[in-house]
Amino acid sequence: MRGRLFRVRVAAKVIVTALAVSMIPVPAAQADLRLGLKLGEIVDNVLPAPPTPDTTPSRTSSRITKRTTQPGLISTVLGTLGPTSTRAATAGTNGGGAPGARSSQKTLILYDNTGPWAWLGEAYAVQAGNLASHGSSYVMHPVGSYAAGEISGYTGVIYIGSTYDEPIPLAFLDDVLATTKPVLWMAHNIWQLTARAPSFQTTYGWNWVQYDTGAATTVRYENTDLGRNPLATPSGLMITSITNPAIASAPAIATGSAAGPINWATKAKNLTYIGEIPFSYVDHGDRYLAAADLISRVSNPAMADRKRALVRIEDVGPDADPGELRAIADYLYRQRIPFSIAAYPRYENPYGVENNGVAESYTLAERPDVISALRYMQNRGGTILMHGYTHQYEKLINPYDGVSGNDFEFYTAHVNENDSVIYDGPVPGDSAAWMQGRINSATTAFAQAGFARPAIFEPPHYAASAVDYEVIQQNFGKRYDRGLYFGGYCPGGACGTGTPQYDKIYGQYFPYLVRDIYGSVVAPEAVGNVEPEPFNNHPARLPADLVKTAQQLKVVDDGVASFFYHPYLGTAYLRDTVQGLKNAGYTFVSVGTVMAG
Ligand SMILES: [Zn+2]
Repeated sequence: MRGRLFRVRVAAKVIVTALAVSMIPVPAAQADLRLGLKLGEIVDNVLPAPPTPDTTPSRTSSRITKRTTQPGLISTVLGTLGPTSTRAATAGTNGGGAPGARSSQKTLILYDNTGPWAWLGEAYAVQAGNLASHGSSYVMHPVGSYAAGEISGYTGVIYIGSTYDEPIPLAFLDDVLATTKPVLWMAHNIWQLTARAPSFQTTYGWNWVQYDTGAATTVRYENTDLGRNPLATPSGLMITSITNPAIASAPAIATGSAAGPINWATKAKNLTYIGEIPFSYVDHGDRYLAAADLISRVSNPAMADRKRALVRIEDVGPDADPGELRAIADYLYRQRIPFSIAAYPRYENPYGVENNGVAESYTLAERPDVISALRYMQNRGGTILMHGYTHQYEKLINPYDGVSGNDFEFYTAHVNENDSVIYDGPVPGDSAAWMQGRINSATTAFAQAGFARPAIFEPPHYAASAVDYEVIQQNFGKRYDRGLYFGGYCPGGACGTGTPQYDKIYGQYFPYLVRDIYGSVVAPEAVGNVEPEPFNNHPARLPADLVKTAQQLKVVDDGVASFFYHPYLGTAYLRDTVQGLKNAGYTFVSVGTVMAG
Protein backbone atom coordinates (compact mmCIF):
# COMPACT_ATOMS: atom_id res chain seq x y z
CA MET A 1 0.00 0.00 0.00
CA ARG A 2 1.43 3.32 -0.93
CA GLY A 3 1.63 6.22 1.43
CA ARG A 4 -0.49 9.27 1.18
CA LEU A 5 2.38 11.46 0.14
CA PHE A 6 3.12 9.27 -2.76
CA ARG A 7 -0.41 9.41 -3.97
CA VAL A 8 -0.56 13.13 -3.77
CA ARG A 9 2.55 13.33 -5.82
CA VAL A 10 1.12 10.97 -8.33
CA ALA A 11 -2.02 12.98 -8.60
CA ALA A 12 0.04 15.99 -9.29
CA LYS A 13 1.82 14.55 -12.14
CA VAL A 14 -1.37 13.68 -13.75
CA ILE A 15 -2.33 17.25 -14.05
CA VAL A 16 0.17 17.37 -16.75
CA THR A 17 -2.07 15.00 -18.57
CA ALA A 18 -5.14 16.96 -17.84
CA LEU A 19 -4.06 20.11 -19.56
CA ALA A 20 -1.71 18.55 -21.78
CA VAL A 21 -1.80 20.66 -24.43
CA SER A 22 0.96 22.36 -24.84
CA MET A 23 3.08 24.76 -25.21
CA ILE A 24 4.84 26.73 -27.39
CA PRO A 25 7.46 29.07 -27.37
CA VAL A 26 5.88 32.25 -26.35
CA PRO A 27 6.43 35.15 -28.72
CA ALA A 28 8.62 37.70 -27.06
CA ALA A 29 5.95 40.32 -27.42
CA GLN A 30 3.68 38.40 -25.14
CA ALA A 31 5.87 36.27 -22.95
CA ASP A 32 4.15 35.63 -19.70
CA LEU A 33 6.49 36.97 -17.09
CA ARG A 34 4.36 35.61 -14.32
CA LEU A 35 5.17 32.10 -15.38
CA GLY A 36 8.80 33.00 -15.89
CA LEU A 37 8.77 31.63 -19.41
CA LYS A 38 11.83 31.86 -21.55
CA LEU A 39 11.74 31.97 -25.30
CA GLY A 40 11.44 28.44 -26.58
CA GLU A 41 10.01 27.00 -23.41
CA ILE A 42 6.65 25.41 -23.58
CA VAL A 43 4.14 25.16 -20.82
CA ASP A 44 0.77 23.48 -20.92
CA ASN A 45 0.84 23.11 -24.67
CA VAL A 46 -1.19 26.23 -25.11
CA LEU A 47 -1.03 28.01 -28.42
CA PRO A 48 -0.32 31.74 -28.27
CA ALA A 49 -1.65 34.29 -30.72
CA PRO A 50 0.53 36.59 -32.76
CA PRO A 51 0.71 40.16 -31.51
CA THR A 52 -1.58 42.57 -33.29
CA PRO A 53 0.12 45.70 -34.62
CA ASP A 54 -0.85 48.82 -32.79
CA THR A 55 -2.49 50.34 -35.81
CA THR A 56 -5.95 50.54 -37.26
CA PRO A 57 -6.57 48.41 -40.32
CA SER A 58 -7.09 50.36 -43.51
CA ARG A 59 -10.61 50.57 -44.87
CA THR A 60 -9.31 51.18 -48.34
CA SER A 61 -6.50 48.77 -48.82
CA SER A 62 -4.08 49.93 -51.47
CA ARG A 63 -4.04 46.36 -52.68
CA ILE A 64 -7.63 46.64 -53.71
CA THR A 65 -7.67 49.52 -56.10
CA LYS A 66 -8.70 47.67 -59.20
CA ARG A 67 -12.15 46.83 -58.07
CA THR A 68 -14.35 45.74 -60.89
CA THR A 69 -18.09 46.16 -60.95
CA GLN A 70 -19.42 43.12 -59.20
CA PRO A 71 -17.63 40.12 -57.86
CA GLY A 72 -18.04 37.39 -60.43
CA LEU A 73 -20.67 34.84 -59.66
CA ILE A 74 -19.48 31.40 -58.88
CA SER A 75 -21.32 28.16 -58.75
CA THR A 76 -23.08 27.49 -55.51
CA VAL A 77 -24.24 24.11 -56.67
CA LEU A 78 -22.60 21.27 -54.90
CA GLY A 79 -20.67 19.32 -57.44
CA THR A 80 -19.17 15.89 -57.08
CA LEU A 81 -17.02 15.92 -54.02
CA GLY A 82 -13.51 14.72 -53.74
CA PRO A 83 -12.34 13.97 -57.24
CA THR A 84 -13.21 17.46 -58.40
CA SER A 85 -10.80 18.99 -55.95
CA THR A 86 -7.29 19.30 -57.22
CA ARG A 87 -6.16 19.63 -53.63
CA ALA A 88 -7.19 16.31 -52.20
CA ALA A 89 -4.77 15.67 -49.39
CA THR A 90 -3.14 12.73 -51.05
CA ALA A 91 0.28 13.65 -49.77
CA GLY A 92 -0.78 13.91 -46.18
CA THR A 93 -2.64 11.80 -43.70
CA ASN A 94 -5.12 14.46 -42.77
CA GLY A 95 -8.46 15.28 -44.30
CA GLY A 96 -10.71 12.36 -43.52
CA GLY A 97 -13.93 12.77 -41.61
CA ALA A 98 -14.49 11.00 -38.30
CA PRO A 99 -17.06 8.20 -38.02
CA GLY A 100 -20.44 9.93 -38.09
CA ALA A 101 -19.24 12.70 -40.37
CA ARG A 102 -21.54 13.43 -43.28
CA SER A 103 -20.15 12.03 -46.50
CA SER A 104 -21.96 14.61 -48.62
CA GLN A 105 -20.11 17.42 -46.85
CA LYS A 106 -16.60 18.70 -47.45
CA THR A 107 -14.96 21.66 -45.77
CA LEU A 108 -12.22 23.94 -47.09
CA ILE A 109 -9.86 25.34 -44.47
CA LEU A 110 -7.65 28.27 -45.47
CA TYR A 111 -4.92 29.84 -43.38
CA ASP A 112 -2.15 32.43 -43.47
CA ASN A 113 1.42 31.34 -44.04
CA THR A 114 3.43 34.54 -44.41
CA GLY A 115 5.31 36.62 -41.89
CA PRO A 116 7.13 35.72 -38.69
CA TRP A 117 4.12 33.87 -37.24
CA ALA A 118 3.53 31.67 -40.25
CA TRP A 119 3.95 28.49 -38.21
CA LEU A 120 1.03 29.54 -36.04
CA GLY A 121 -1.14 29.78 -39.16
CA GLU A 122 -0.47 26.12 -39.84
CA ALA A 123 -1.10 25.25 -36.17
CA TYR A 124 -4.46 27.01 -36.18
CA ALA A 125 -5.41 25.26 -39.41
CA VAL A 126 -4.53 21.90 -37.85
CA GLN A 127 -6.79 22.68 -34.91
CA ALA A 128 -9.62 23.81 -37.19
CA GLY A 129 -9.15 20.74 -39.38
CA ASN A 130 -9.21 18.35 -36.44
CA LEU A 131 -12.47 19.92 -35.30
CA ALA A 132 -14.03 20.07 -38.77
CA SER A 133 -13.47 16.31 -39.14
CA HIS A 134 -16.30 15.75 -36.70
CA GLY A 135 -18.75 16.87 -39.37
CA SER A 136 -17.04 16.25 -42.68
CA SER A 137 -13.87 15.53 -44.56
CA TYR A 138 -11.80 18.58 -45.29
CA VAL A 139 -8.89 20.02 -47.23
CA MET A 140 -6.60 22.67 -45.85
CA HIS A 141 -4.04 24.87 -47.54
CA PRO A 142 -2.70 28.42 -47.37
CA VAL A 143 -5.15 31.08 -48.50
CA GLY A 144 -2.48 32.46 -50.82
CA SER A 145 -2.91 29.50 -53.16
CA TYR A 146 -6.68 29.78 -53.33
CA ALA A 147 -7.88 29.33 -56.90
CA ALA A 148 -10.89 31.20 -58.30
CA GLY A 149 -14.02 29.09 -58.00
CA GLU A 150 -12.37 26.58 -55.70
CA ILE A 151 -15.16 27.03 -53.20
CA SER A 152 -17.52 25.25 -55.59
CA GLY A 153 -15.95 21.92 -54.63
CA TYR A 154 -16.89 22.33 -50.97
CA THR A 155 -19.92 22.69 -48.77
CA GLY A 156 -18.38 25.24 -46.42
CA VAL A 157 -15.27 27.36 -45.85
CA ILE A 158 -13.25 28.30 -42.78
CA TYR A 159 -10.61 31.02 -43.01
CA ILE A 160 -8.25 31.78 -40.12
CA GLY A 161 -6.65 35.23 -40.37
CA SER A 162 -3.57 35.01 -38.17
CA THR A 163 -1.21 37.26 -40.14
CA TYR A 164 -2.07 40.93 -40.13
CA ASP A 165 -2.52 42.05 -43.76
CA GLU A 166 -1.83 38.64 -45.27
CA PRO A 167 -2.12 39.16 -49.02
CA ILE A 168 -5.41 37.38 -49.65
CA PRO A 169 -6.16 36.57 -53.29
CA LEU A 170 -8.97 38.76 -54.61
CA ALA A 171 -10.54 35.62 -56.02
CA PHE A 172 -11.12 34.35 -52.50
CA LEU A 173 -12.65 37.64 -51.36
CA ASP A 174 -14.93 37.66 -54.38
CA ASP A 175 -15.96 34.05 -53.89
CA VAL A 176 -16.75 34.65 -50.22
CA LEU A 177 -18.91 37.62 -51.16
CA ALA A 178 -20.73 35.63 -53.82
CA THR A 179 -21.28 32.25 -52.22
CA THR A 180 -24.30 31.18 -50.23
CA LYS A 181 -22.38 28.38 -48.53
CA PRO A 182 -21.47 28.80 -44.88
CA VAL A 183 -18.27 30.76 -44.35
CA LEU A 184 -16.55 31.11 -40.98
CA TRP A 185 -13.93 33.87 -40.84
CA MET A 186 -11.64 34.34 -37.84
CA ALA A 187 -9.63 37.35 -36.71
CA HIS A 188 -7.51 39.40 -39.11
CA ASN A 189 -8.08 40.71 -42.59
CA ILE A 190 -11.82 41.06 -42.43
CA TRP A 191 -10.99 44.58 -43.60
CA GLN A 192 -9.84 43.15 -46.89
CA LEU A 193 -13.24 41.56 -47.35
CA THR A 194 -15.16 44.74 -46.56
CA ALA A 195 -12.86 46.86 -48.71
CA ARG A 196 -13.66 44.56 -51.59
CA ALA A 197 -17.38 45.17 -51.15
CA PRO A 198 -18.28 48.83 -50.64
CA SER A 199 -21.82 47.77 -49.91
CA PHE A 200 -20.75 45.25 -47.28
CA GLN A 201 -22.41 47.06 -44.40
CA THR A 202 -25.69 47.41 -46.24
CA THR A 203 -25.64 43.82 -47.40
CA TYR A 204 -24.53 42.16 -44.18
CA GLY A 205 -25.88 44.62 -41.63
CA TRP A 206 -22.61 44.98 -39.71
CA ASN A 207 -19.08 46.27 -40.00
CA TRP A 208 -15.83 46.01 -38.10
CA VAL A 209 -14.69 48.88 -35.89
CA GLN A 210 -11.28 48.28 -34.31
CA TYR A 211 -9.38 45.87 -32.12
CA ASP A 212 -9.94 45.93 -28.40
CA THR A 213 -7.21 44.76 -26.06
CA GLY A 214 -9.15 45.22 -22.85
CA ALA A 215 -9.96 42.56 -20.31
CA ALA A 216 -12.71 40.80 -22.24
CA THR A 217 -12.29 37.54 -20.37
CA THR A 218 -15.81 36.13 -20.50
CA VAL A 219 -17.61 35.04 -23.65
CA ARG A 220 -21.31 34.32 -23.42
CA TYR A 221 -22.55 31.80 -25.96
CA GLU A 222 -25.87 29.98 -25.88
CA ASN A 223 -26.64 31.37 -22.45
CA THR A 224 -23.40 30.01 -21.03
CA ASP A 225 -20.35 31.89 -19.79
CA LEU A 226 -17.09 30.62 -21.26
CA GLY A 227 -13.60 31.69 -20.30
CA ARG A 228 -11.10 33.74 -22.27
CA ASN A 229 -7.60 33.68 -20.82
CA PRO A 230 -6.18 37.12 -19.98
CA LEU A 231 -3.10 36.08 -21.94
CA ALA A 232 -5.23 36.18 -25.08
CA THR A 233 -6.41 39.74 -24.63
CA PRO A 234 -3.25 41.58 -25.80
CA SER A 235 -3.67 40.01 -29.22
CA GLY A 236 -6.93 41.85 -29.62
CA LEU A 237 -10.59 41.17 -30.18
CA MET A 238 -12.15 42.88 -33.17
CA ILE A 239 -15.12 45.01 -32.22
CA THR A 240 -18.00 44.84 -34.66
CA SER A 241 -20.99 47.10 -35.02
CA ILE A 242 -24.34 45.69 -36.01
CA THR A 243 -26.14 48.30 -38.07
CA ASN A 244 -29.09 46.23 -39.18
CA PRO A 245 -30.31 43.74 -36.57
CA ALA A 246 -32.79 42.40 -39.10
CA ILE A 247 -29.84 40.93 -40.98
CA ALA A 248 -27.03 40.55 -38.45
CA SER A 249 -26.83 39.10 -34.97
CA ALA A 250 -24.20 38.28 -32.37
CA PRO A 251 -24.20 34.59 -31.41
CA ALA A 252 -21.55 35.27 -28.76
CA ILE A 253 -20.70 38.37 -26.74
CA ALA A 254 -17.51 39.08 -24.80
CA THR A 255 -17.65 41.08 -21.59
CA GLY A 256 -15.13 42.52 -19.18
CA SER A 257 -13.50 45.14 -21.38
CA ALA A 258 -13.80 48.82 -20.53
CA ALA A 259 -15.06 49.18 -24.10
CA GLY A 260 -18.25 47.42 -22.98
CA PRO A 261 -19.78 44.25 -24.42
CA ILE A 262 -18.12 43.19 -27.66
CA ASN A 263 -19.58 40.95 -30.33
CA TRP A 264 -17.23 38.00 -30.05
CA ALA A 265 -19.00 36.41 -32.99
CA THR A 266 -21.11 38.19 -35.58
CA LYS A 267 -23.39 36.40 -38.00
CA ALA A 268 -25.21 37.61 -41.08
CA LYS A 269 -26.54 35.53 -43.93
CA ASN A 270 -24.06 32.73 -44.59
CA LEU A 271 -21.09 34.57 -43.05
CA THR A 272 -20.01 34.14 -39.44
CA TYR A 273 -17.13 36.20 -38.09
CA ILE A 274 -15.13 35.55 -34.90
CA GLY A 275 -13.11 38.60 -33.86
CA GLU A 276 -10.03 36.70 -32.71
CA ILE A 277 -8.14 33.43 -32.97
CA PRO A 278 -10.13 31.14 -30.65
CA PHE A 279 -7.29 28.60 -30.38
CA SER A 280 -4.92 30.66 -28.26
CA TYR A 281 -4.42 30.04 -24.53
CA VAL A 282 -7.20 27.49 -24.34
CA ASP A 283 -8.27 26.11 -20.98
CA HIS A 284 -11.22 24.06 -19.75
CA GLY A 285 -14.58 25.72 -20.40
CA ASP A 286 -12.94 28.08 -22.86
CA ARG A 287 -14.50 30.18 -25.65
CA TYR A 288 -12.75 27.59 -27.81
CA LEU A 289 -15.91 25.55 -27.23
CA ALA A 290 -17.99 28.17 -28.99
CA ALA A 291 -15.58 28.04 -31.90
CA ALA A 292 -15.76 24.24 -31.94
CA ASP A 293 -19.53 24.48 -32.20
CA LEU A 294 -19.42 27.11 -34.95
CA ILE A 295 -16.89 25.01 -36.87
CA SER A 296 -19.04 21.91 -36.79
CA ARG A 297 -21.99 23.98 -37.97
CA VAL A 298 -19.97 24.69 -41.08
CA SER A 299 -18.70 21.14 -41.56
CA ASN A 300 -22.08 19.53 -40.86
CA PRO A 301 -25.05 21.81 -40.18
CA ALA A 302 -27.22 18.72 -39.63
CA MET A 303 -25.09 17.23 -36.84
CA ALA A 304 -27.15 15.53 -34.14
CA ASP A 305 -26.96 17.14 -30.74
CA ARG A 306 -26.50 14.20 -28.42
CA LYS A 307 -25.40 14.74 -24.82
CA ARG A 308 -23.19 11.78 -24.00
CA ALA A 309 -20.62 11.21 -21.30
CA LEU A 310 -17.54 9.01 -20.91
CA VAL A 311 -15.54 7.94 -17.87
CA ARG A 312 -12.06 6.44 -18.01
CA ILE A 313 -10.30 4.82 -15.03
CA GLU A 314 -6.71 6.01 -15.28
CA ASP A 315 -3.24 4.58 -14.70
CA VAL A 316 -4.05 0.99 -13.89
CA GLY A 317 -0.84 -1.04 -13.88
CA PRO A 318 0.49 -4.22 -12.28
CA ASP A 319 0.99 -2.12 -9.14
CA ALA A 320 -2.72 -1.30 -8.83
CA ASP A 321 -4.67 -2.05 -5.68
CA PRO A 322 -7.18 -4.80 -6.63
CA GLY A 323 -9.60 -3.71 -3.92
CA GLU A 324 -9.75 -0.19 -5.27
CA LEU A 325 -10.38 -1.48 -8.77
CA ARG A 326 -13.22 -3.71 -7.60
CA ALA A 327 -14.82 -0.88 -5.65
CA ILE A 328 -14.80 1.33 -8.74
CA ALA A 329 -16.22 -1.45 -10.89
CA ASP A 330 -18.95 -2.22 -8.37
CA TYR A 331 -20.06 1.38 -8.21
CA LEU A 332 -20.14 1.93 -11.97
CA TYR A 333 -21.80 -1.40 -12.57
CA ARG A 334 -24.57 -0.57 -10.12
CA GLN A 335 -25.04 2.71 -11.97
CA ARG A 336 -25.13 0.82 -15.29
CA ILE A 337 -22.28 2.96 -16.56
CA PRO A 338 -19.84 1.49 -19.08
CA PHE A 339 -16.26 2.67 -18.57
CA SER A 340 -12.77 2.25 -19.89
CA ILE A 341 -9.54 1.32 -18.12
CA ALA A 342 -6.25 2.91 -19.13
CA ALA A 343 -3.83 0.09 -18.39
CA TYR A 344 -0.07 -0.40 -18.73
CA PRO A 345 1.18 -3.98 -18.38
CA ARG A 346 4.66 -3.51 -16.91
CA TYR A 347 5.69 -1.74 -13.73
CA GLU A 348 9.11 -0.13 -13.35
CA ASN A 349 10.58 1.63 -10.35
CA PRO A 350 14.27 1.90 -11.20
CA TYR A 351 15.26 3.91 -8.13
CA GLY A 352 13.17 2.05 -5.58
CA VAL A 353 11.02 5.04 -4.72
CA GLU A 354 8.90 4.25 -1.64
CA ASN A 355 10.66 0.90 -1.60
CA ASN A 356 13.78 1.61 0.48
CA GLY A 357 15.76 2.32 -2.64
CA VAL A 358 15.34 -1.19 -3.98
CA ALA A 359 14.49 -1.20 -7.68
CA GLU A 360 11.32 -2.99 -8.77
CA SER A 361 10.26 -4.40 -12.13
CA TYR A 362 7.40 -6.77 -12.79
CA THR A 363 4.65 -7.47 -15.28
CA LEU A 364 0.93 -7.93 -15.09
CA ALA A 365 1.39 -11.70 -15.43
CA GLU A 366 3.22 -11.68 -12.10
CA ARG A 367 0.26 -10.06 -10.31
CA PRO A 368 -2.65 -12.55 -10.42
CA ASP A 369 -4.71 -10.46 -8.01
CA VAL A 370 -4.57 -7.50 -10.37
CA ILE A 371 -5.38 -9.75 -13.34
CA SER A 372 -8.44 -11.00 -11.57
CA ALA A 373 -9.51 -7.46 -10.66
CA LEU A 374 -9.15 -6.43 -14.30
CA ARG A 375 -11.28 -9.41 -15.34
CA TYR A 376 -13.81 -8.33 -12.73
CA MET A 377 -13.86 -4.84 -14.26
CA GLN A 378 -14.26 -6.22 -17.78
CA ASN A 379 -17.20 -8.29 -16.65
CA ARG A 380 -18.83 -5.14 -15.30
CA GLY A 381 -18.58 -2.99 -18.38
CA GLY A 382 -14.88 -2.12 -18.49
CA THR A 383 -12.97 -1.69 -21.77
CA ILE A 384 -9.19 -1.98 -21.41
CA LEU A 385 -7.09 0.58 -23.31
CA MET A 386 -3.34 0.36 -23.92
CA HIS A 387 -1.88 3.18 -21.85
CA GLY A 388 1.69 2.58 -22.96
CA TYR A 389 3.99 -0.26 -21.92
CA THR A 390 5.56 1.05 -18.70
CA HIS A 391 4.25 4.63 -18.43
CA GLN A 392 7.80 5.82 -17.77
CA TYR A 393 11.03 5.88 -19.76
CA GLU A 394 13.98 3.69 -18.81
CA LYS A 395 15.90 5.22 -15.91
CA LEU A 396 15.15 8.81 -16.79
CA ILE A 397 13.59 11.17 -14.29
CA ASN A 398 10.88 12.13 -16.76
CA PRO A 399 9.95 14.37 -15.10
CA TYR A 400 9.20 13.08 -11.56
CA ASP A 401 10.86 9.88 -10.36
CA GLY A 402 11.03 7.23 -13.06
CA VAL A 403 8.10 5.33 -11.55
CA SER A 404 5.42 3.78 -13.77
CA GLY A 405 2.23 5.81 -13.84
CA ASN A 406 4.09 8.99 -12.95
CA ASP A 407 6.42 9.70 -15.83
CA PHE A 408 6.18 10.26 -19.56
CA GLU A 409 6.97 7.27 -21.77
CA PHE A 410 6.96 8.67 -25.31
CA TYR A 411 8.27 12.20 -24.75
CA THR A 412 10.80 13.84 -22.46
CA ALA A 413 9.98 16.55 -19.98
CA HIS A 414 11.38 18.28 -16.95
CA VAL A 415 10.03 20.46 -14.16
CA ASN A 416 11.54 23.91 -14.31
CA GLU A 417 12.52 26.24 -11.49
CA ASN A 418 8.99 27.64 -11.45
CA ASP A 419 7.46 24.20 -10.96
CA SER A 420 6.06 24.05 -14.47
CA VAL A 421 6.39 20.94 -16.62
CA ILE A 422 8.41 21.70 -19.72
CA TYR A 423 8.18 19.38 -22.73
CA ASP A 424 11.65 18.79 -24.14
CA GLY A 425 11.34 16.53 -27.18
CA PRO A 426 11.22 12.92 -28.37
CA VAL A 427 12.87 10.34 -26.11
CA PRO A 428 16.45 9.26 -26.89
CA GLY A 429 16.36 6.60 -29.57
CA ASP A 430 12.85 7.47 -30.67
CA SER A 431 11.95 5.98 -34.06
CA ALA A 432 9.19 4.06 -35.75
CA ALA A 433 11.00 0.81 -34.95
CA TRP A 434 11.42 1.74 -31.28
CA MET A 435 7.75 2.67 -30.98
CA GLN A 436 6.69 -0.53 -32.70
CA GLY A 437 8.86 -2.49 -30.30
CA ARG A 438 7.19 -0.76 -27.37
CA ILE A 439 3.71 -1.64 -28.65
CA ASN A 440 4.82 -5.22 -29.33
CA SER A 441 6.23 -5.56 -25.81
CA ALA A 442 3.03 -4.25 -24.30
CA THR A 443 0.96 -6.58 -26.46
CA THR A 444 3.06 -9.54 -25.31
CA ALA A 445 2.78 -8.52 -21.67
CA PHE A 446 -1.00 -8.24 -21.96
CA ALA A 447 -1.11 -11.64 -23.68
CA GLN A 448 0.99 -13.27 -20.95
CA ALA A 449 -1.60 -12.06 -18.47
CA GLY A 450 -4.40 -13.49 -20.59
CA PHE A 451 -5.63 -10.29 -22.18
CA ALA A 452 -6.18 -9.54 -25.85
CA ARG A 453 -4.38 -6.54 -27.27
CA PRO A 454 -6.49 -3.46 -26.47
CA ALA A 455 -8.05 -1.83 -29.53
CA ILE A 456 -7.47 1.75 -28.42
CA PHE A 457 -4.23 3.50 -27.44
CA GLU A 458 -3.74 6.34 -24.97
CA PRO A 459 -0.26 7.89 -24.78
CA PRO A 460 0.80 8.48 -21.16
CA HIS A 461 0.33 12.16 -20.27
CA TYR A 462 -1.12 12.61 -23.76
CA ALA A 463 2.33 13.01 -25.25
CA ALA A 464 4.29 11.28 -28.00
CA SER A 465 6.46 12.30 -30.92
CA ALA A 466 5.04 12.62 -34.43
CA VAL A 467 6.57 9.32 -35.53
CA ASP A 468 5.15 7.64 -32.43
CA TYR A 469 1.69 8.95 -33.30
CA GLU A 470 2.13 7.62 -36.82
CA VAL A 471 3.00 4.16 -35.50
CA ILE A 472 0.04 4.28 -33.12
CA GLN A 473 -2.14 5.08 -36.11
CA GLN A 474 -0.73 2.13 -38.06
CA ASN A 475 -1.31 -0.28 -35.18
CA PHE A 476 -4.57 0.94 -33.69
CA GLY A 477 -6.17 3.65 -35.80
CA LYS A 478 -7.86 4.76 -32.59
CA ARG A 479 -6.74 6.90 -29.68
CA TYR A 480 -8.38 8.20 -26.54
CA ASP A 481 -6.38 11.33 -26.18
CA ARG A 482 -5.72 14.98 -26.30
CA GLY A 483 -3.47 15.28 -29.31
CA LEU A 484 0.02 16.72 -29.33
CA TYR A 485 1.09 18.37 -32.59
CA PHE A 486 4.19 19.93 -34.02
CA GLY A 487 4.90 22.99 -36.13
CA GLY A 488 6.14 22.33 -39.64
CA TYR A 489 4.46 18.92 -39.85
CA CYS A 490 1.86 20.04 -42.39
CA PRO A 491 3.54 22.15 -45.08
CA GLY A 492 0.98 23.42 -47.55
CA GLY A 493 -1.66 21.70 -45.45
CA ALA A 494 -0.39 18.19 -46.18
CA CYS A 495 0.27 16.70 -42.78
CA GLY A 496 3.02 14.15 -42.51
CA THR A 497 5.06 15.61 -45.35
CA GLY A 498 7.06 18.08 -43.28
CA THR A 499 9.65 17.76 -40.56
CA PRO A 500 8.11 18.21 -37.11
CA GLN A 501 9.71 21.01 -35.15
CA TYR A 502 9.85 19.97 -31.54
CA ASP A 503 10.34 23.50 -30.28
CA LYS A 504 6.93 24.39 -31.72
CA ILE A 505 4.50 22.02 -30.09
CA TYR A 506 0.88 22.49 -29.22
CA GLY A 507 -1.83 20.35 -27.73
CA GLN A 508 -5.54 20.23 -28.36
CA TYR A 509 -8.46 18.72 -26.53
CA PHE A 510 -11.61 17.82 -28.41
CA PRO A 511 -15.21 18.28 -27.32
CA TYR A 512 -16.43 15.57 -29.70
CA LEU A 513 -15.19 12.66 -31.80
CA VAL A 514 -12.64 13.64 -34.44
CA ARG A 515 -10.19 12.11 -36.86
CA ASP A 516 -7.00 14.04 -36.26
CA ILE A 517 -4.15 14.90 -38.61
CA TYR A 518 -2.36 11.64 -37.81
CA GLY A 519 -5.36 9.87 -39.34
CA SER A 520 -6.55 8.36 -36.07
CA VAL A 521 -10.08 8.44 -34.73
CA VAL A 522 -9.74 10.22 -31.39
CA ALA A 523 -12.22 9.78 -28.57
CA PRO A 524 -12.59 13.08 -26.74
CA GLU A 525 -11.54 14.00 -23.22
CA ALA A 526 -12.43 17.61 -22.54
CA VAL A 527 -13.43 17.65 -18.89
CA GLY A 528 -10.20 16.58 -17.19
CA ASN A 529 -9.92 14.79 -13.87
CA VAL A 530 -10.30 15.16 -10.13
CA GLU A 531 -7.13 16.51 -8.53
CA PRO A 532 -7.61 17.19 -4.82
CA GLU A 533 -4.25 18.98 -4.59
CA PRO A 534 -2.80 21.70 -6.80
CA PHE A 535 0.19 20.68 -8.86
CA ASN A 536 2.72 22.18 -11.25
CA ASN A 537 0.91 25.51 -11.27
CA HIS A 538 -2.44 23.88 -11.96
CA PRO A 539 -5.20 24.38 -9.43
CA ALA A 540 -6.91 21.55 -7.62
CA ARG A 541 -10.04 20.34 -9.37
CA LEU A 542 -12.93 18.77 -7.51
CA PRO A 543 -16.10 17.14 -8.86
CA ALA A 544 -17.91 20.50 -8.86
CA ASP A 545 -15.22 21.88 -11.16
CA LEU A 546 -15.60 18.97 -13.56
CA VAL A 547 -19.36 19.36 -13.55
CA LYS A 548 -19.00 23.06 -14.32
CA THR A 549 -16.77 22.25 -17.27
CA ALA A 550 -19.32 19.70 -18.48
CA GLN A 551 -22.07 22.31 -18.20
CA GLN A 552 -20.04 24.67 -20.35
CA LEU A 553 -19.45 21.88 -22.82
CA LYS A 554 -23.18 21.73 -23.47
CA VAL A 555 -22.84 24.68 -25.84
CA VAL A 556 -21.21 22.29 -28.29
CA ASP A 557 -23.63 20.29 -30.39
CA ASP A 558 -22.86 16.59 -29.87
CA GLY A 559 -20.34 17.48 -27.18
CA VAL A 560 -19.15 14.55 -25.07
CA ALA A 561 -18.61 15.14 -21.35
CA SER A 562 -15.56 12.92 -20.97
CA PHE A 563 -13.44 12.74 -17.83
CA PHE A 564 -10.89 10.42 -16.29
CA TYR A 565 -10.41 9.24 -12.75
CA HIS A 566 -7.70 7.67 -10.60
CA PRO A 567 -8.87 4.64 -8.61
CA TYR A 568 -6.69 5.57 -5.60
CA LEU A 569 -9.04 8.50 -4.97
CA GLY A 570 -11.76 6.09 -3.84
CA THR A 571 -15.35 6.20 -5.04
CA ALA A 572 -16.79 9.31 -3.37
CA TYR A 573 -15.38 11.82 -5.88
CA LEU A 574 -16.33 9.48 -8.68
CA ARG A 575 -19.90 9.26 -7.45
CA ASP A 576 -20.17 13.04 -7.16
CA THR A 577 -18.85 13.57 -10.67
CA VAL A 578 -21.03 10.90 -12.24
CA GLN A 579 -24.11 12.21 -10.49
CA GLY A 580 -23.29 15.79 -11.47
CA LEU A 581 -22.95 14.87 -15.12
CA LYS A 582 -26.19 12.92 -15.05
CA ASN A 583 -27.96 15.87 -13.45
CA ALA A 584 -26.53 18.07 -16.19
CA GLY A 585 -28.37 15.95 -18.73
CA TYR A 586 -25.63 13.63 -19.93
CA THR A 587 -26.00 9.92 -20.60
CA PHE A 588 -22.99 7.66 -20.09
CA VAL A 589 -22.07 5.40 -22.98
CA SER A 590 -19.08 3.23 -23.82
CA VAL A 591 -16.06 4.60 -25.67
CA GLY A 592 -16.85 2.13 -28.43
CA THR A 593 -20.26 3.73 -28.87
CA VAL A 594 -18.75 7.19 -29.20
CA MET A 595 -16.10 5.93 -31.59
CA ALA A 596 -18.75 4.41 -33.85
CA GLY A 597 -19.86 7.94 -34.71
ZN1 LIG B 1 -1.41 8.00 -17.25
